[in-house]
Amino acid sequence: MSNDTARAGAKDIGQSDAGQSYTVPGFAGAVGFDIPTDLLIGGDWVAGWGGGRIAVLDPSTGAELTSVADGTVADGLAAIDAAEAAARDWAATPPRQRAVILQRCYQSMVDQADWLARLIALENGKALSDARSEVLYAAEFFRWYAEEAVRINGELAIAPAGGNRILVQYQPIGIALLITPWNFPAAMATRKIAPALAAGCTCILKPAEETPLTALAIGEILLRAGVPGGVVNIVNTSDPAGVCKAILHDPRVRKLSFTGSTEVGRILLREAADSVISSSMELGGNAPFLVLDDADVDAAIEGAMVAKMRNAGEACTAANRFYVQAGIHDRFVTRLVERMGSLKLGPGSEAATQCGAMINPAAIEKIAALVDDALAKGATLRLGGKAADGPGYFYPPTVIDGLSRDARILREEVFGPVAAVMRFDDVEEAVAMANDTEYGLSAYVYTGDMKRGLQLAERLEYGMVALNRGLVSDPAAPFGGVKQSGLGREGSHHGLIEFTEAKYIAVDW
Ligand code: NAD
Repeated sequence: MSNDTARAGAKDIGQSDAGQSYTVPGFAGAVGFDIPTDLLIGGDWVAGWGGGRIAVLDPSTGAELTSVADGTVADGLAAIDAAEAAARDWAATPPRQRAVILQRCYQSMVDQADWLARLIALENGKALSDARSEVLYAAEFFRWYAEEAVRINGELAIAPAGGNRILVQYQPIGIALLITPWNFPAAMATRKIAPALAAGCTCILKPAEETPLTALAIGEILLRAGVPGGVVNIVNTSDPAGVCKAILHDPRVRKLSFTGSTEVGRILLREAADSVISSSMELGGNAPFLVLDDADVDAAIEGAMVAKMRNAGEACTAANRFYVQAGIHDRFVTRLVERMGSLKLGPGSEAATQCGAMINPAAIEKIAALVDDALAKGATLRLGGKAADGPGYFYPPTVIDGLSRDARILREEVFGPVAAVMRFDDVEEAVAMANDTEYGLSAYVYTGDMKRGLQLAERLEYGMVALNRGLVSDPAAPFGGVKQSGLGREGSHHGLIEFTEAKYIAVDW
């Protein structure tokens, strides 16, 4: 099909068999709407040109939950048409009105947190408690950016030579392609959609193949909250490379906001380079967790459990490497093994579960390979270390210590419930080991001496450092990495500015 045909308008897209939907088990009638499983283009749910479907699996059982429409390049281009058609009006919508709509999105997500959490637990496998926290965290981006939408202030300066004035105004950057991963299917979407909408941009969301339902549910919530058709379009696809490449090579698209692996981030930066598209990249991490001798062990263990086990370790901010000073090391390891060993492994959607399933068999294989490599190179297994038998994709909480410096797990993101612990004597040595990675997303420090902690935080080559805390994420804070963990920031005012372009008007005064 030619691009012209594809651009004939979103409403023409093969809609004949559109209208499929999914009901979260146990919530029939309570949800208020069934989750559409088609593509969202121009405010309509459409089947797409290809007519194909992508199976959505429950990682806790491996069984198929339902299927969603499989978007093609033509659907991606039609989504750009729809985003373009809506762009001018949305940019001209008064900020207060945009804010009111975003506030409604916030309230709607909070009101519907129960079934949204169950939906996330079903398609992602994470524990219901983690899923619920994610829904509330995701909703907060709508609230925060509802508040930010009315504070996109410009600048007026006197030119240094006197006389002339420098007027700066922040305009919407234009149509944005938002690409999200499966590990936080709600929060990674709202962390992009909310600032894009607050800034006055229209967008195309390309969710991860593994977790499309959460994105589609959010799409319906947005429509019901009053987001006009075409402002947010959602295209699931089994061909992310082909569809995203076509979108990024359309000159109408001016922004790429990506969250995912560093490997895919590099590919997308190359694609974006062809049209010089502004790119915000939230990529992989390999977080170190430093515990100094003077730390409060109880607090450090609490923080470690959050930093390691939130989302069963499937988080870009997850503590990967624990560097613990010699005087406190043995106590820390004993307590960590006790706490990790007490966690209940099970299907995400069961209320008692504390550590849910991994996303797919490939994830289990990667975790097992990294653990086996560390053990083969001399590490000691303290807990876990063997994937559970199916059905479902489970790896138990695992602790290893005494690793050799060349263990792969110290360099590569494990993305699972595995804590690798190293002993150190000298703090300088710990800082050097912590910084010895291509990643630079988040780091954790536990110490009883705040001044020392702040000085260490300055020297850690990371975009975010948690000091005596196990969690960095906050919609009001600039989230992002240095080195190969990314470019730009999400959340806070910084996240809004990423969706704007500074327009300088030179004024003869
Ligand atoms: P991934 O890079 O495999 O996929 C992310 C998204 O990119 C998916 O939507 C996928 O369909 C799409 N994609 C894959 N190949 C593509 C291509 N060639 N062109 C265009 N799109 C493509 O990552 P994942 O496995 O879904 O997520 C896990 C990774 O995400 C981890 O590395 C994790 O650290 C990272 N992550 C980072 C942050 C952050 O804020 N820095 C947050 C969450 C996850």
